Amino acid sequence: MAECILYQSSVPVVRECDVLVVGAGPSGVCAAVSAAREGAKVILCERYGSVGGMLTMGNVDPILGEVAGGTYYDEIVRRLAEIDKGTVPTTGTRIGREIPVNREVAKIVLDRMIEDAGVELWVGAAFVDALIENGKVTGAIFATQNGLKAVRAKITVDSTGDACVAAAAGAEIEIGRESDGGLQPMTLEFTVTGVDESIAISVWGGSDPIKIPAGEFAGMEYRELCKQKNREGELPEFVSIVRLHRTSHPGERSVNATQVNNLSPLDPADMGKAELELRDQIKKCVDFLQKYIPGFENCSIKTSADTVGVRESRRVRGIEYIVDKDVEDGRHREDGIVHNAWFLIDIHNPKGGGQAEGYSRPAQPYDIPYGALVPIKTDGLLIAGRPISGTHRAHASWRVMAICMAMGEAAGVAASKCSALGVEPRDLNPAEVRKVLTSRGVEL
Ligand SMILES: Cc1cc2nc3c(=O)[nH]c(=O)nc-3n(C[C@H](O)[C@H](O)[C@H](O)COP(=O)(O)OP(=O)(O)OC[C@H]3O[C@@H](n4cnc5c(N)ncnc54)[C@H](O)[C@@H]3O)c2cc1C
Repeated sequence: MAECILYQSSVPVVRECDVLVVGAGPSGVCAAVSAAREGAKVILCERYGSVGGMLTMGNVDPILGEVAGGTYYDEIVRRLAEIDKGTVPTTGTRIGREIPVNREVAKIVLDRMIEDAGVELWVGAAFVDALIENGKVTGAIFATQNGLKAVRAKITVDSTGDACVAAAAGAEIEIGRESDGGLQPMTLEFTVTGVDESIAISVWGGSDPIKIPAGEFAGMEYRELCKQKNREGELPEFVSIVRLHRTSHPGERSVNATQVNNLSPLDPADMGKAELELRDQIKKCVDFLQKYIPGFENCSIKTSADTVGVRESRRVRGIEYIVDKDVEDGRHREDGIVHNAWFLIDIHNPKGGGQAEGYSRPAQPYDIPYGALVPIKTDGLLIAGRPISGTHRAHASWRVMAICMAMGEAAGVAASKCSALGVEPRDLNPAEVRKVLTSRGVEL
């Protein structure tokens, strides 16, 4: 066991609020805006310098997943399109509707929503520890450029993606695949420009049977060429498919390809290794595109993620638990706070290239129950986004951004209700959340 030191510090409580939201990704921004629109005094704290999480800092493009109408997902898509005219859904494929997103426009849209709702935003504020008083979470401590600062809150929403607050508060945590703890690989996404649209293909995944239209490999399935070049060492070790999504602008492709396996997203040294390895892989992937894929001969890197993308880390055991069958059969529930959530069970292989189960498995539109956002043992806290309660396979469906936005909105309503009524999340009747969402026009 590592040596431990005892570190004590007197931390000033610089703010008190109704709702503290930790992490400003798609779920956190929606949670903060949603709570503030209900009249709560909200502080949203983010470790990086901009909001948006994977949507912006992760260069993740397109927004995937579907939910019933009327949620903040619809609002965000509409606002993106108002600024960036290219933001229209691309043709639906097996992975559903793709909403291309210009991450610079996304920053503007999310900032505007935060400001208009009256949320106090902190950036450059990394969560350090949970405040625990009388056995419940009552806020959090942040590392800032001016030392440690505490924020006291009636309710805290953990939307860090990694369940940092829940883990610090001693909540019951699960991690990775049930059989071996395996985590989906990490990836640095990037975008290439200079693509010749008259011939360039787009590719949504390793099951896409699209063929190479011209040149040396004309008529060959693109996915087979990727596998071949992977075997021959021209693509990185586990990169057996180079996904090419259309962006909101012609002449570009968003590339989801690089990957590292068996590194922990919770270990900074592992994250450092991932950063070094994945940047190197970007170059290899671009070389492959330029050399073998018609229309990409003159492509170049336009932008890349500012941070390694983490698909999976902790999940927080909640008072409800979403199981594989719920997603596979499309379970609907009276306590649902996100209705008709849909995405494939998309498990990037924890132990190698491609998909863990050969290909992404089907799902039916299902509901996310309120209790999946409520930690089983820990009061004062709600979870939004990736780490809600359920199995590794179910997580592989709900982790996409459309669904995370909708559950963030619901978490914000719940947090504002708990704060206004003075009740714990476990004691809040889900009907209260549903009533507010329905009044906003959300289909449940
Ligand atoms: C490589 C990759 C490709 C993907 N592809 C797609 C795709 O094509 N389409 C799609 O819809 N989804 C995709 N996903 C999934 C999706 O992007 C995420 O699951 C989704 O963004 C989760 O939203 P979130 O709000 O829970 O977390 P995140 O987007 O991860 O946001 C978490 C936020 O919390 C902040 N935070 C974390 N720790 C702290 C801390 N200690 N203190 C303060 N702030 C903190 C982070 O900086 C971040 O801003 C992809 C994910 C990855 C990693």
